[in-house]
This record gives sequence, C-alpha cells and structure tokens, in this order.
Amino acid sequence: MHGAINMLGLAKRVKAKIFQASTSEVYGDPAIHPQPEHYWGHVNPIGIRSCYDEGKRCAETLFFDYRRQHGMRIKVARIFNTYGPRMHPNDGRVVSNFIVQALQNKPITLYGDGTQTRSFCYVDDLIEGFIWLMNSPDDLAGPVNLGNPGEFTMIELAAAIRDLTGSSAPLVHEPLPQDDPKQRQPDIGLARSALSWEPKVTLREGLQPTIAYFDALLRRGQSPRR
Ligand code: UDP
Repeated sequence: MHGAINMLGLAKRVKAKIFQASTSEVYGDPAIHPQPEHYWGHVNPIGIRSCYDEGKRCAETLFFDYRRQHGMRIKVARIFNTYGPRMHPNDGRVVSNFIVQALQNKPITLYGDGTQTRSFCYVDDLIEGFIWLMNSPDDLAGPVNLGNPGEFTMIELAAAIRDLTGSSAPLVHEPLPQDDPKQRQPDIGLARSALSWEPKVTLREGLQPTIAYFDALLRRGQSPRR
C-alpha cells in the first residue's frame, strides 16, 4: 500500500495523470454475473487470496480519496484475466501452466472439477484499452472493466490448448484452491460506450501466438519447474 501512496504523492507533486492497474479480483467470488463496475464484490477478508484482493481494493480507495481531496486526474482499470506471449512459464497461472504442460506432454492440472469459468483477454487488446482509457476525458476516472467477455470453463480451455498444440497430455484433477472464484465475466458496457473499445482477438486466435512463444522458449531450454 505504501507503493500506491508514494506514487499518488509523486503524481500530485508533478500534476501527472495516474493509472491504477486494478483487477477483477476486487469482485472476489462474485454473486452476480457478469460483473459490472457498480458491483461491490464478494471478498473474503482473511483468506489466502485476500492480501491481493483487499490490497487492490484499498488502492482503488486511495486513488479516489486523492481524486476527491486533491482533484487529481486518476484512471482506474479493472483488468480481467489476460494472457499472451512473454508470460512467465512458472507464474502458476492457468494459461501458461496448461500450454507448458501440453507442449511437454505432461499432465494438465485441472484444479477442482474444471467447471469454474474465466474470461481471457489477449494482451494486445488490453493494451489498446489502456491507451483509450488514458486518452479519455479527465472526468472519466473509472473504474472501467477491461477484459474479453468470452467466458470458458477450465475444461474448455484445456481442450482448446490440447487441440491447438496437438498434445495428447492427459488431464489430472488437483484440489481447488481456497476461495477460487467460481465464475468470472466482465460486463464491458462502460468501456464500449465511454471508450469505444472492445476486444477483437478470440481465445483461439490469441492462444496461437502464445503457444508459439512458449514453444520457442522451451526449445531454447528454459525448462519450467512445474
Ligand atoms: N487453474 C487450474 N490449473 C492450473 C492453474 C489454475 O485449473 O494449473 C484454475 C484456477 O483454479 C482458477 C483458474 O484456473 O479457477 C484461473 O486461475 P489463474 O490463477 O490463472 O487466475 P485467477 O484465478 O487469478 O483468475
């Protein structure tokens, strides 16, 4: 949290416009679907994900306090699951895990029954959303959901990755982490109307360059731990 305060203090001093990379995690395990910006969320304050979720929620609070108190120009984006080339092979996220496992013909680790959903946005689309947001009028502080509304179960994601890699890696079930959100899909009505932005890259289109990236990485011998 000190980071956010330092950066807000710096932006105030130099009169800069400041961007907060917030997250769909502010919605927690959401009770309404899809999630619009006015939904306050459903977050466990003391669970294993809470440090991240509550940290991001608190950062949003500080941004809006600085805006109210000092008239600062803030831009808050709530970023939904994003993927693409240059992800770290060991960061533990589902897209990188599944692709690396498929390319190595190692078991694909489905947590829980794999029916939980996520909506995956290709990185180029997200960056374009950032640019539109930063160039929007100062009265648009956000928060603005940025993500791809295309929603998939983890079983569907695994199937798409097996198909695109031509892998015969088996699926294995592992325990579902505590407080893992059951479903997640952005309502991007605000981004559509206020920024004229919407993602263009479908999951299958975006997975292809992502798979090619990991394939080249693994061929160079940067073997991941999992
Ligand atoms: N997940 C999975 N296998 C993995 C990694 C993740 O089934 O090897 C699941 C995880 O339980 C969650 C979803 O994939 O339901 C997305 O996980 P990730 O960590 O990528 O993103 P987040 O949960 O933060 O949205």
